[in-house]
Amino acid sequence: MPSPQPAVPFRHAVVTGGAGFLGSHLCERLLAAGTRVTCMDDLSTSDGSNIAHLRGDPAFAFVRHDVSTPFTTSDDVDLVLHLASPASPADYLRLPVETLRVGSAGTGHALEAARRTGARMVLASTSETYGDPQVHPQPESYWGHVNPVGPRGVYDEAKRFGEALTTAYRSAYGVDTAIVRIFNTYGPRMRRDDGRAIPTFIAQALTGQPMTVAGDGSQTRSVCFVDDTVRGILAVAGSDLPGPFNVGLPEERSVLDIARAVAAVVGVPPDVEFVGRPVDDPSVRCPDITAIRTRLGWEPQVGLAEGLARAVAWFRETAPAGAHSGDG
Ligand code: NAD
Repeated sequence: MPSPQPAVPFRHAVVTGGAGFLGSHLCERLLAAGTRVTCMDDLSTSDGSNIAHLRGDPAFAFVRHDVSTPFTTSDDVDLVLHLASPASPADYLRLPVETLRVGSAGTGHALEAARRTGARMVLASTSETYGDPQVHPQPESYWGHVNPVGPRGVYDEAKRFGEALTTAYRSAYGVDTAIVRIFNTYGPRMRRDDGRAIPTFIAQALTGQPMTVAGDGSQTRSVCFVDDTVRGILAVAGSDLPGPFNVGLPEERSVLDIARAVAAVVGVPPDVEFVGRPVDDPSVRCPDITAIRTRLGWEPQVGLAEGLARAVAWFRETAPAGAHSGDG
């Protein structure tokens, strides 16, 4: 049974990180549901192109601001979606201190905004809170296996602190909070150079380069199409439940299989180059989505082949002039 479209009963949402990949899709969905949207973003890992088409909408406002410093919102805000954070390993390794700041101080400012206005506040957390997991698949009750002093620690621990702070604002101040632990998501509007596996594979396959697979490619990921992830986040936002809720596609694939699937969709031979595996790269990753499925009726609807076809179509449409297009 397809899961229902979530009700989005909000008047005015602030979306931090709203110019990014997930944030721009969320802004669009909220506007389509009749919600006013203030997108607050410092454009540190995006360039504004994802929201260019929203700029003319009178219900949409863009505020360029680093949310690691305090901000004010209008009094009528009833939803704060806190997505601001570098998200790709390439970005958070380049911006380690900024990543910790936005996960700590930035989350604090988003919570303060919700506390002042009485808004619901949803923290975009991550499957990275599970680190290199020793429990598989990962239910929300699993505490994780994170190396705080490894290179990925800046992201994982920032999100873990953000979850603790969100939980404390709920218990200490009665703020209406929720936490979503988002698993790897892909789709239109990812930067081709953001370093994450799927946009990298697509960009490489479309330009006739070998796809660079980390290690031997046997490590697994579960990858969810953006429309499903956005629907999951909005389902949690539209409920009164605190979570945390895993949001992801509970189908595990090896990274090598994902590369092969990209090649099949692009229509090129699966030409792969094996490269070094990043430090602390998780070996397995797959969500247990029992909680969100049973409590909110959400589950992903887009499988890998369909999602990749939609992502590849977008990468083709937006290809820089002069780039090859794989199967021509
Ligand atoms: P993204 O890099 O495309 O978007 C992040 C946005 O946040 C960018 O527009 C960036 O400019 C903005 N930003 C960063 N620091 C900021 C700051 N200090 N102040 C204001 N804006 C700031 O990444 P994304 O994939 O859209 O991820 C969005 C959120 O979802 C992140 O919090 C990420 O941790 C979380 N998440 C994403 C995934 C995924 O697969 N895409 C998985 C798990 C969690």
